[in-house]
Amino acid sequence: MAKTWKDKDISLDPLKNQTIAVIGYGIQGDAQANNMKDSGLHVIVGLKKGGPSWKKAESDGHTVMSVSDACKKADIIHVLLPDMIQSQVYKDEIGPNLSKGKALSFSHAAAIHWKWIIAPDNVDIIMVAPKGPGSKVRETYLENFGTPSIVAVHQDFTGKAWDRTLGIAKAIGSARAGLIQTTFQEEVETDWFGEQADLCGGSASMVKAAFETLVEAGYQPEIAYFEVLHELKLIVDLIQRYGINGMWRRVSETARYGGLTRGPMVMTSDTKDNMKKVLKMIQDGTFNKEWISEYQKNGKDAFDKYMKETDAHQIEKVGKQMRKMMWPDSTE
Ligand code: NDP
Ligand code: MG
Repeated sequence: MAKTWKDKDISLDPLKNQTIAVIGYGIQGDAQANNMKDSGLHVIVGLKKGGPSWKKAESDGHTVMSVSDACKKADIIHVLLPDMIQSQVYKDEIGPNLSKGKALSFSHAAAIHWKWIIAPDNVDIIMVAPKGPGSKVRETYLENFGTPSIVAVHQDFTGKAWDRTLGIAKAIGSARAGLIQTTFQEEVETDWFGEQADLCGGSASMVKAAFETLVEAGYQPEIAYFEVLHELKLIVDLIQRYGINGMWRRVSETARYGGLTRGPMVMTSDTKDNMKKVLKMIQDGTFNKEWISEYQKNGKDAFDKYMKETDAHQIEKVGKQMRKMMWPDSTE
């Protein structure tokens, strides 16, 4: 069984005299900095001057300074920058100010696991990865609960790395829901696999294929959209809340029998073999190499051609009209 912790298992005392620099004030930085501050920790925020986040962090009541200055002052440097710029900011501003006994902390393991950042031996390297977007991390904290996190220590120089990791996790509210121990390798490989094979990649491809199947058979695209895209959320909500069989028990008997017998005809052992290929490409570094090289060559344009393909797909055109019906005020 995985090792787990709850709020009562953890003390914030080891962090009481530590300064925590939150580097970046975006989706995670904003939420985590505010939660830690409200939990009574000494938080400062490191940003680039002139960026839009500086004013926001200041108006939220934080002490804001350059990334270099924040790293100089901090005992724990919590890097919440977009993943693809972490290596450059580390080289220019974090690394030069990372002295003995400090902790380098992350919410995602990629930079360390794939060696985009190579940190010295005389610091702690830790991770607290919330299993939800920043908005949820803040929202649930304010409701006196939290978003669960998975936590790991990659390098324990001070012997206090776990105190620091668990303290941060408690301070952002995650331990109220629960913490699960992981490793940097496990976090990044499972995270990438999930988003490629299942969550983003798998589900988008499944929805498109199902839509095409109905439309090519002569059904109206609007009806197809409702059936294969819109309703997916209702089912996923049931699976998240009640488990797979909990979902089956809450749909009609016809849906239950049809889904149980036809699902495996769609997602076959070939599909699973392909998932294994995708996982292998993550594990052996093929995907990392490809993504880094595409990003270096093309920046954010690396995915533009794929996005354009989907923009041109009928499901997106119909979808725009359909969503106007359901969310009349929204501007997409
Ligand atoms: P964001 O894209 O939201 O981070 C943007 C922030 O970084 C902004 O405050 C921006 O400042 C700042 N920034 C950008 N460039 C620089 C720079 N050169 N120097 C200083 N600050 C800079 O990141 P996320 O919150 O999405 O991700 C942060 C980490 O959390 C990542 O490792 C990610 O994998 C992980 N994570 C993210 C989750 C999520 O919900 N998004 C979930 C779990 C983990 P400005 O606005 O001024 O440009
Ligand atoms: Mg993920």
